[in-house]
Amino acid sequence: SIEGEENLRSPICCIMGHVDSGKTKLLDCIRGTNVQEGEAGGITQQIGATYFPAENIRERTRELKADARLKVPGLLVIDTPGHESFTNLRSRGSSLCDLAILVVDIKAGLQPQTIESLNLLRMRNTEFIIALNKVDRLYGWQTCKNAPIVKSLKQQPKDVISEFNVELKKVKNQFQEQGLNTELYYKNKEMGETFSIVPTSAVSGEGVPDLLLLLVQWAQKTMVEKLTYVDEVQCTVLEVKVIEGHGTTIDVVLVNGELHEGDKIVVCGLQGPIVTTIRALLTPHPMKELRVKGTYLHYKEIKAAQGIKITAQGLEHAIAGTALHVVGPDDDLEAIKESVMEDMESVMSRIEKSGEGVYVQASTLGSLEALLEFLKSPAVKIPVSGIGIGPVHKKDIMKAGVMLERKKEYATILAFDVKVTTEARELAEDMGVKIFCADIIYHLFDLFKGYIENIKE
Ligand code: GDP
Ligand code: MG
Repeated sequence: SIEGEENLRSPICCIMGHVDSGKTKLLDCIRGTNVQEGEAGGITQQIGATYFPAENIRERTRELKADARLKVPGLLVIDTPGHESFTNLRSRGSSLCDLAILVVDIKAGLQPQTIESLNLLRMRNTEFIIALNKVDRLYGWQTCKNAPIVKSLKQQPKDVISEFNVELKKVKNQFQEQGLNTELYYKNKEMGETFSIVPTSAVSGEGVPDLLLLLVQWAQKTMVEKLTYVDEVQCTVLEVKVIEGHGTTIDVVLVNGELHEGDKIVVCGLQGPIVTTIRALLTPHPMKELRVKGTYLHYKEIKAAQGIKITAQGLEHAIAGTALHVVGPDDDLEAIKESVMEDMESVMSRIEKSGEGVYVQASTLGSLEALLEFLKSPAVKIPVSGIGIGPVHKKDIMKAGVMLERKKEYATILAFDVKVTTEARELAEDMGVKIFCADIIYHLFDLFKGYIENIKE
């Protein structure tokens, strides 16, 4: 659409919240209903993301505000499964996501991962909107499919409204305890100061139009500068994956600029900067052809904002959550190599100089950083002697095993949101290295604390 005179790119949004709060379902709901309306909507499933064009959002929010003026081309929602902490993915030192949806189950209220998500959002200064989900589970709820929430609430019986108000108040109080003012979005007169709540049902779609419109309007109103398209490539590695027939590939989000087949790129690697050449730029087939597994559309060039799979040589040790740089003809390769490693160095600097401490492993550089920050906090104070990113392998056990001779209780791996290979587990058992796994940061602390107390007895 050429509605906007300002050359804005699509805002990038992530969905966070406690497990089972309805993140996946909410995304399905936004996507699904539109798919049924045909391909005209133009929603495309991308690598690690879903793209919702502005026309689609307008269609979806017609009942809410027929004259909605959308200046952004669309909305890119990051949805790679298994990555619950997208705000950890950085791009040029700040969060990859322009804004986030924090999903809260209306009946469960704030849960451990809700609070963890909240803290991550604050740490990265990412703006967010609260989706108070599963309103259809209030007893006696009258379904009003895909309706704006105010319209739906008007049709509810008195009992439902009073239950709604009780639960809403509870959640608002819980947010207050976290130091956050919140308010129903249509009553919120000071967005930015007070966080907006949009009641939703991912099952019947109530409130979903409100959520979409609020996200887009807020982004284009308050983030014009950030959303103005620039030619300079801004690109973040989401995931490093081995794909049959393609070898090791990286899934990236291209935030600004263009990528071309044959571009020389530099990415941050565990063993130093990786300099390579883009062999192929791939995206999945359009929605209806998604069943054609393992095949991708090839591009000669591709423009932001997009989710893309890149194949190239030497990507095995690339680190998720870091920036990808393109080397132009006039660029200084050495300077670029140094700058891609900056993120890594800031993390390395947090490791104990004494060499005594536990070994920590996380899925991305960002989540590793969050974990290190937590372990360093005064209430926790667990020293760290080594770090790793990605699944726990035998080599990590060997590294952690060094502590067996020095301080046995530190011969421990704290694994955050990563898998442990069978061989690694076996070796750990043989050597006497402890592995604690969790996908909530402070559970690792509880596990480790329990272990230490046990040893002392
Ligand atoms: P996630 O872990 O946050 O991605 O949660 P899911 O999207 O997988 O949802 C967890 C469960 O809650 C599933 O059984 C969903 O069908 C259900 N669910 C999600 N949203 C809603 C909702 O709005 N209403 C109701 N009744 N169930 C929901
Ligand atoms: Mg999910």
